[in-house]
Amino acid sequence: MKTLLVTGGAGFIGANFVLQAVADGLSVINLDKLTYAGNLDTLASLQDNKNHVFVQGDIGDRALIARLLQEHRPDAVVNFAAESHVDRSIDGPAAFIETNVVGTLGLLECARDFWRALEPERAKAFRFLHVSTDEVYGSLGTEGKFTESTPYAPNSPYSASKAASDHLVRAFHHTYGLPVLTTNCSNNYGPYQFPEKLIPLIIQKALSGEPLPVYGDGLNIRDWLHVSDHCAAIRRVLEAGRVGETYNVGGNAERENIVVVKTICALLDARRPLANGRKRESLITFVKDRPGHDRRYAIDSDKLQNELGWRPSQTFETGMEQTIDWYLANQAWSGRVLDGSYRMERLGS
Ligand code: NAD
Repeated sequence: MKTLLVTGGAGFIGANFVLQAVADGLSVINLDKLTYAGNLDTLASLQDNKNHVFVQGDIGDRALIARLLQEHRPDAVVNFAAESHVDRSIDGPAAFIETNVVGTLGLLECARDFWRALEPERAKAFRFLHVSTDEVYGSLGTEGKFTESTPYAPNSPYSASKAASDHLVRAFHHTYGLPVLTTNCSNNYGPYQFPEKLIPLIIQKALSGEPLPVYGDGLNIRDWLHVSDHCAAIRRVLEAGRVGETYNVGGNAERENIVVVKTICALLDARRPLANGRKRESLITFVKDRPGHDRRYAIDSDKLQNELGWRPSQTFETGMEQTIDWYLANQAWSGRVLDGSYRMERLGS
């Protein structure tokens, strides 16, 4: 694969993926609507790179997508574009349906039409990879893990919209033969994550000595994966995944939310103690739980590991240390997100 059309490549995972792909010599057409979650600062190092073309636009804009496909003739489409924050989906589900369901449908139709017109060799090699979440499987009890055959049981408007998009991707393979792949990944963390998500939110608040909000009793469990390992998994599935299959991606790193927060506190106390000598754990404040909050997610990624040889390179401990060090070294990036200036410049004000 030489040329990829990546959607949502100014967001957290998409941008990490694009930076890595371009560093590895691939050409990327990066289509992103630049919602609040899209941040061109993250892509600043690619500004003059001829292997990266950024286009501001919507995955649901069929004329634009068709034009980009014709102009750049990519070997694959990798779809990261989505509304991605569960809390926002509770406050306003419509945008989630618009992008995650209707937008994905538009993208699929354009990809199908482009793929159908390709010469046979190129059509055979073409791929549409859809990036999805483990949240489509619902919530687990204390035992067991999600496998690729776990029935879908999404509980939030976000996960319901992602589940719908996964089903559309599946249907485009079964109905039209489009060579699709789907990845369902656990919670990601790492550089360039928007500070509304648990780990960067807690890092920022802990750095400035503010109360650290933790939902409910803090005992909800997530399986955490460093974003670089997720991106490597996507690349591996793109290269060698079996068409029409889905692959679960996880870090085998289940942690209670409270443990994640305490880990951040300890790492920051060791690196940058608060001026008043206070231990950051004392800033933890339990807040009213999120409605319908899933209790536990855990991913079985044996299929990806056994079939395609992918393994996570980071443990939760090494990944968290690296992440804390990254946020400490990149306070300017976070500062521009927190004060909103990352958006203002783009809007010309
Ligand atoms: P994000 O919110 O950081 O980024 C999403 C990007 O999509 C943003 O740059 C945004 O501007 C763009 N976008 C939104 N609507 C668009 C539209 N209509 N057209 C074009 N671009 C649009 O999200 P993320 O955390 O990077 O997640 C990326 C993908 O990975 C999502 O599909 C998400 O469901 C999935 N995922 C995320 C996680 C996680 O832990 N963050 C885990 C598993 C799967």
